[in-house]
Amino acid sequence: MEQRAFGKTGLQTSLLGFGGFHLLEIPLSEASYLLNKYLDEGGNYIETAASYGKGESERKIGQSIASRREEYILATKCGDRGKQACAESLDRSLQNLQTDYVDLFIMHGVGTMADLDQILAPDGALAAAEEAVAAGKVRHISISMHGQPDVLIRALKEYPFDAVMTTINYYDHFNFPEIQDVLVPLAEEKGVAVILMKPVADGLLWRSAPEAFRYAFSQPVSVVVAGINNRELLDLDLDLAENFTPMTAAEMDDLYASAIELGDYVCRQCDLCLPCPEGVPITEIFALEGYFDRQMFDGRVGDAADYALRQRLRFWFNNKDMAQARYADLAVKADACTACGVCTPKCPYDIDIIRKLSIADYKLAAKEIF
Ligand code: SF4
Ligand code: SF4
Repeated sequence: MEQRAFGKTGLQTSLLGFGGFHLLEIPLSEASYLLNKYLDEGGNYIETAASYGKGESERKIGQSIASRREEYILATKCGDRGKQACAESLDRSLQNLQTDYVDLFIMHGVGTMADLDQILAPDGALAAAEEAVAAGKVRHISISMHGQPDVLIRALKEYPFDAVMTTINYYDHFNFPEIQDVLVPLAEEKGVAVILMKPVADGLLWRSAPEAFRYAFSQPVSVVVAGINNRELLDLDLDLAENFTPMTAAEMDDLYASAIELGDYVCRQCDLCLPCPEGVPITEIFALEGYFDRQMFDGRVGDAADYALRQRLRFWFNNKDMAQARYADLAVKADACTACGVCTPKCPYDIDIIRKLSIADYKLAAKEIF
């Protein structure tokens, strides 16, 4: 399997990383089989978190592969924001993982500026991480978030992180465009490794796994972390990583145009529908809808299973309040639309803009009915 440089750390990570969250769903014997097979097949990046099952994921990893510790790069995460709690969390993690050190210690889910301020404070979690580096318990320090790129962009500007972990997939590309437009180039400029998570958008892209993984592997990232909890999935992910060929820019554009998950609802932010004679900022409103619920609720019920999955995933990133607050600040909102129909024929993706504006207004202005 291809290996890539992990930023400036000197480490080389395998293209496919093993995400440990879903180890909670399977018995230790199966977790052990999957982890060992992943290592046997050339994988070398194992990732977990203290909060996954209150250490259960870490314990399964420790019990399964601690004897092969020199064969893999080990990452765990800490969700505590204070120095003391973070130091204690790390010690528990090391015990669970049956090791003296982790290669990567990740500040977990830093989703707000207040969170970031807390970990950066003199008595914050990063002070504990730095002491752990000095003590040999941690090799490198990283940070993660779920759909709040502005927080990580500021984080990279203010602290010399070795790596950053972020959501990237072809669906959320249109919900959080700053990730690929600003965050990733900034990381590249600073030599910070990028760890890609959610290549199949929390399962939304399950029908398109080959395209979703090929898209993820084609990004300028060091490793693509996938949650793995069964043999079939492991074999598929390994096969896709081993036989990966980079996607061209033209192929990505084709995917953006034809992906069934994006369909005729998700705005591709192309601006072709503008200008609106009433001054409605169409693309800006749909971008805020992306933050609000990842444009997952479209007011239609087709496939019941797909609808249920979207209902489960739409607020995964907890950006609802932030999106509504930003919408409240817009000078012209969706309700200024007079339904003149000028914009709709200009959309190359057949989005019913008038209807979508009404749905976005219902979501973002917290209206009771649409
Ligand atoms: S239909 Fe609404 S959003 Fe579209 S151009 Fe007319 S007023 Fe603007
Ligand atoms: S033309 Fe369609 S896809 Fe492009 S910005 Fe307007 S609504 Fe979005």
